[in-house]
Amino acid sequence: MLTTNPFDDDTLHEECGIFGVSGSEGAAALVALGLHALQHRGQEAAGITSLDQGHFHTHRAMGHVAGNFDRDEVIRSLPGAVAAGHVRYSTSGDTALRNVQPLYAELQSGGFAIAHNGNISNAMRLRRELVRRGSIFQSTSDTETIIHLVATSNYRTLLDRFIDALKQIEGAYSLIVMTPEGMIACRDPLGIRPLVMGRLGDAVIFASETVALDVVGATFERSIDPGELVIVQGDTIRSVRPFPQVSARPCIFEWVYFSRPDSIEGDRSVYDVRKNIGAQLAVESPVEADLVIPVPDSGVPAAIGYAQESGIPFELGIIRSHYVGRTFIQPGDKVRHLGVKLKHNANRALIKGKRIILIDDSIVRGTTSLKIVQLMREAGAAEVHMRIASPPTRHSCFYGVDTPERAKLLAAKLDLGEMTDFIHADSLAFVSIDGLYKALGEARRADIRPSHCDACFTGDYPTTLTDQDETEAVDQFAMLAERVI
Ligand code: AMP
Repeated sequence: MLTTNPFDDDTLHEECGIFGVSGSEGAAALVALGLHALQHRGQEAAGITSLDQGHFHTHRAMGHVAGNFDRDEVIRSLPGAVAAGHVRYSTSGDTALRNVQPLYAELQSGGFAIAHNGNISNAMRLRRELVRRGSIFQSTSDTETIIHLVATSNYRTLLDRFIDALKQIEGAYSLIVMTPEGMIACRDPLGIRPLVMGRLGDAVIFASETVALDVVGATFERSIDPGELVIVQGDTIRSVRPFPQVSARPCIFEWVYFSRPDSIEGDRSVYDVRKNIGAQLAVESPVEADLVIPVPDSGVPAAIGYAQESGIPFELGIIRSHYVGRTFIQPGDKVRHLGVKLKHNANRALIKGKRIILIDDSIVRGTTSLKIVQLMREAGAAEVHMRIASPPTRHSCFYGVDTPERAKLLAAKLDLGEMTDFIHADSLAFVSIDGLYKALGEARRADIRPSHCDACFTGDYPTTLTDQDETEAVDQFAMLAERVI
């Protein structure tokens, strides 16, 4: 996650995937496979670090895992039974290789490699302080802050120094750390980003999602608990829980969009939850129509749920080219618009003359919905009703999901009627926040802390946002100063 200019640009927030193996010779090959399964979480760059007889080896590359980490010479250059990797998602122009993880540093205790999924919301404040005290940063990544906090900690053992560092950071972090002694995997006290543990024979595996365990043939053991550090040294595994216990707030958007539908979180399947959201949407916002059509691929499970609940047939009215990256990934509005056209085509023969219900997982800027509705109209649809399997996204995420600044979020600017007009739909409806929780088999009660972080929908951020607050304060001061002048 980058810290340069993070709040006044709509392109810097990123989501990532991490994968680690301890105790299997040729671990890097497994990590490459695991990262491949996590590619949806980050397509901009990937990196793997391995540990062999006390020596660290790293390979980092821009672009996809395939093409970079499926080459023999690359995997051979990463020997050892311990390895960790990272896929990074960023629509930022700052694509410097020095930001690609795992990050690595030589500390007093020896080598230290770290892979991070999430975003540290006080990284800029900490960085300023560290730089003032003499730290020399090598990247613009917030993750590097952790390395400097470990390096400058007054505690003696590496574990204590690491815990000391974690206690100073706020925000979201699922981490895999490699040291000469072994591997540490941990999740922030609120468990905002996912992290699971599995087994492959005697090897221990950590991954952002269970789908990556499936791909390497590992069995899913359990999720890492929020606030838990799992330490693997040779054959021994132990847990420490250094934080006061608080109720967890895992990211609800993982259920809506980010995780792969074939992943399991807790004991729930992402696919089932998405179908439930679709069914809930059908109950809350029914409409008479001939076909239910998903915006592929992200709207598919919810559309199946909507169709099953409403009894309206599910059909593939939009065909997606799999040779174009996610729409979001392309910087600049012009390319983003073009991207949507390249990516989706109407199944004309099916659409012509039909009243259709389009289902997508979310509306962010509104670019996709606008294009898709237009595509359906051009294909001769009689009516186009849009149904969205999440509540309106009204707030930016500061915990590692790529959302633009607030001013660019469609639902932050327009009310429902205006949004309907903007995308040229005959009707538009979003699942309610209560409906979303219901789909998860839970209830969102106003009198208690919700069981998830749903800040993107509600603005209820579960941590302080030091950097964001400071940036706003500076902006307000600048505005005041302008007025005075
Ligand atoms: P937009 O076109 O800006 O309204 O974005 C909505 C589309 O982008 C939907 O089809 C989503 O599947 C997808 N999407 C939503 N959130 C994200 C995200 N954080 N990163 C990438 N794609 C996203």
